[in-house]
Amino acid sequence: MFNEKAQMMKLDDIRQVQEKKITKMMKYAYDNVPMYKKRFKEEGITPKDINGLEDVKKIPFTVKDDLRDHYPYGILAVPREKVVRFHASSGTTGTPTVVSYTRNDMETWGDLMARTYNAAGADAGDIVQNAYGYGLFTGGLGFHQGAEVLGCSVIPTSTGNTKKQIKMLYDFQTTVLACTPSYAIYLSEASQKFGYDPLKDFNLKVGMFGAEPWSDEARQSIQESMGLKAQDVYGMSELYGPGVAVECPEQNGLHIWSDEFLVETINPSTGEVLPEGEKGELVFTMLSREAMPLLRYRTKDIAVVNYEECECGRHHPRIMRVEGRSDDMLIVGGVNVFPSQVEAALLETEGTAEHYQIIVDRDVLDKLYVKVEIDKDYYESDEFDEEDLLRNVNENLTAILNIRAKVELLEPNTLPRTVGKAKRVVDLREEHDRMEEM
Ligand SMILES: [Zn+2]
Repeated sequence: MFNEKAQMMKLDDIRQVQEKKITKMMKYAYDNVPMYKKRFKEEGITPKDINGLEDVKKIPFTVKDDLRDHYPYGILAVPREKVVRFHASSGTTGTPTVVSYTRNDMETWGDLMARTYNAAGADAGDIVQNAYGYGLFTGGLGFHQGAEVLGCSVIPTSTGNTKKQIKMLYDFQTTVLACTPSYAIYLSEASQKFGYDPLKDFNLKVGMFGAEPWSDEARQSIQESMGLKAQDVYGMSELYGPGVAVECPEQNGLHIWSDEFLVETINPSTGEVLPEGEKGELVFTMLSREAMPLLRYRTKDIAVVNYEECECGRHHPRIMRVEGRSDDMLIVGGVNVFPSQVEAALLETEGTAEHYQIIVDRDVLDKLYVKVEIDKDYYESDEFDEEDLLRNVNENLTAILNIRAKVELLEPNTLPRTVGKAKRVVDLREEHDRMEEM
């Protein structure tokens, strides 16, 4: 096992490490990041007031806008010359958020990613095909470096060129596939189109799927069609990148590498820290980041954290399910709707495919439209019954969402296929608002 000591730490030991690191980190951030010195002063506290985990709630939050405000070099705690790598994510507002890494940070990240692969079921000697985008996005280089640290043979295919991806899956007999879950679904469909049977022709063992939310039903579908264990990976560029948390083979929550990340769950409206086990927004403090320490970073991800020991023997707390992002949440006629709930309802309905689109529009009242493709095999079978399917989709949606949606069934292969993150939500109300402002 790679870095067994860290992977198998007992909860008491994890807490001890956290206590030790957090005290050090507070002083480090205060001394080296002017933004934090200013904020601590505004709150009337100094690092001396933070004497362990109990005091963390005194520290002000950090949000994504703080990173944007520090464009281009980010929230640097070291001279720029000490930075060996920058990554950036493009914001919808135009100013990218930049993140930076020292040599030590790269080592920590490499270790975290190697553990992530290993805990998911990959090992030294595996053949890793990395179809995440290489570049400013942390996915490509993050998954690349971690696989090398673990001792795998890496094929850096990057995104796109699906035909070539499939040929390499076959020719190299790739054992580990790293890409977004929506691309994995696309690859499995395309493989069959190009004449391959993934179960017979490929040698896949594990899929490292992250960067977008996906449901258990999508997981089942990928596992069955590709013959691999589909593992969820959690992370974000502000927290190194991928490698914050990962599923073990139990597939019952994602272990947070808690010797490096302190997690809290808060009420997203009030900022109040919630008791262990309650659903709320995840907030992370990196415990040894050198270039860009972030204290109590608000992720906007809504989830439950479970502190019980896992069947796999690991004690690192688990993110039980990311229910959606507070950002992605749609408010339709006063009801909260997460796109992931729509996906779950659709995939629970036999006869629908994984391809769907959610459209929200406003006439006098808000309206929710769901377009979903009919499963190809079902569509071509004698059992196909459109009315029956429509009724089932409606029932499942209403049960999960508590509101009615207008459902449209589409023939197979009508919705556009994407290579990266799928664009699944279209909110036409925003366009109306822009028109009205003009
Ligand atoms: Zn586990």
